[in-house]
Amino acid sequence: MNSTDYDVIVIGSGIGGLVTATQLAAKGASVLVLERYLIPGGSAGYFDREDGYRFDVGASMIFGFGDKGTTNLLTRALDGVKMSIETIPDPVQVHYHLPDGLDLKVHRDYEKFLHELISYFPHEEKGIRQFYDECWKVFNCLNAMELLSLEEPRYLTRVFFQHPFACLGLVKYLPQNAGDIARRYIRDPQLLKFIDAECYIWSVVPADRTPMINAGMVFSDRHYGGINYPKGGVGQIAQKLVEGLENAGSHIKYKARVTEIIIENNRAVGVKLASGETLRAKRVVSNATRWDTFEKLLPATKKPTSEKKWQQRYQQSPSFLSLHLGVKAEALPDGIECHHVLLENWDDMEAEQGTIFVSIPTLLDRSLAPDGFHIIHTFTPSWIQEWENLSPSEYAAKKEKAADRLIDRLTQIIPDLDRGLDFQEVGTPRTHRRFLGRENGTYGPVPSRKLLGLLGMPFNRTAIANLYCVGDSTFPGQGLNAVAFSGFACAHRVATDLGL
Ligand SMILES: Cc1cc2nc3c(=O)[nH]c(=O)nc-3n(C[C@H](O)[C@H](O)[C@H](O)COP(=O)(O)OP(=O)(O)OC[C@H]3O[C@@H](n4cnc5c(N)ncnc54)[C@H](O)[C@@H]3O)c2cc1C
Repeated sequence: MNSTDYDVIVIGSGIGGLVTATQLAAKGASVLVLERYLIPGGSAGYFDREDGYRFDVGASMIFGFGDKGTTNLLTRALDGVKMSIETIPDPVQVHYHLPDGLDLKVHRDYEKFLHELISYFPHEEKGIRQFYDECWKVFNCLNAMELLSLEEPRYLTRVFFQHPFACLGLVKYLPQNAGDIARRYIRDPQLLKFIDAECYIWSVVPADRTPMINAGMVFSDRHYGGINYPKGGVGQIAQKLVEGLENAGSHIKYKARVTEIIIENNRAVGVKLASGETLRAKRVVSNATRWDTFEKLLPATKKPTSEKKWQQRYQQSPSFLSLHLGVKAEALPDGIECHHVLLENWDDMEAEQGTIFVSIPTLLDRSLAPDGFHIIHTFTPSWIQEWENLSPSEYAAKKEKAADRLIDRLTQIIPDLDRGLDFQEVGTPRTHRRFLGRENGTYGPVPSRKLLGLLGMPFNRTAIANLYCVGDSTFPGQGLNAVAFSGFACAHRVATDLGL
């Protein structure tokens, strides 16, 4: 065993891990990415099925592919290793089908969206504009500066002198939540519920627990850089990053499950694989969730106190029940949009299998399904506890029943769905846990109570020297563009520590 085989070992090839790896490789570091699965991408991966169906595992409403500003982090990450992807703009971020007949679309065109929302709440026009305008203020601050590690003092000093007002703006919003700002301007309880849904669909918590920094990004970038679907499917992002990584002279190894992070003299020095092999590096970056990193890859005695405190502030969000469908093209109503959110009763928004998310990416890229067919990925929050302690036949029966119920509810927006079905596959939280390697299949950490905005979310360094975390359990949280941010920040911090 060499004293150091690599500059950096990255555990996991989710988008957070790959952005860290590619940024470091582009700076000349020797990087090895270790991925337990067969392909890269994690929650942004894909799988193929018979007859030419290609499904996204999770993400398909993609931010970060814009061509201007500084918040287009997927475009920038690919560019960092001389790669690019053709994308297809989506004219509507999401079509909401909400209780009380609230049926509206978030158009890419900001004014068109506001008009549609204001037509439901004309008495709240001023409040609506004030709330969303405040989101733009956050976004404009972020979009003015290069987004790197907030743990790097020289960078902070530099951006402060370059953009003093933007920095002060962000410091102001950092401890705030979207719900507080919404209530400052909006009174109508139904409209406040809509703002909750606007937050919930990506933060999986209502507005009161959704940091304003993240809300500012999402509610503005959808009208600025827009939502853009990568041609060939979401899996292309990870594939291209890997290609760029290898072109830059670094490597990825699949079927390489890390079982232990090796600690010597209180420093991370390498990893042990399930095969028994050990590999050493100057720095170790974990793209696994914090629960997986600190509870499974390190002995209990090494769990830092800061992690115990973090676990009191943040809890695991539910996982998802996913239904991947292949349907005849004629089953889809004319003019249907790509992304939908469906909820019949406000009280069920956060409930087990309450809110339904729908994505029909073949409306943007026909290559993902055979001629004359579309794919529909529909998913709804579900907890692992719902799916445990079942015999194989009970598990199969429960999956089938849940799929039937989802299809039944989906007929509200696709009346002919049942008759058009060609392919069907169900994934449960157990599937997410198994294939994504995420504790309980969780979507990620959510505040366990109301916190001070994003202030409690850890950056990339950990209490263990030379061990870093990246991905959705670090600042600023879930979503591909967010984990790309965390990847840029992590690579920046590691590169500075390595003197690159
Ligand atoms: C159903 C669903 C829908 C979503 N929709 C959207 C959306 O529309 N838009 C959006 O922006 N985001 C969406 N997201 C969220 C987004 O996909 C995630 O936030 C993001 O992909 C997480 O990236 P990550 O880098 O943190 O880690 P992950 O994607 O979790 O990747 C971590 C990687 O590490 C590997 N790994 C873990 N442990 C080990 C180990 N011990 N050894 C080796 N490898 C290991 C895993 O196999 C995995 O490949 C969705 C997520 C889901 C599940």
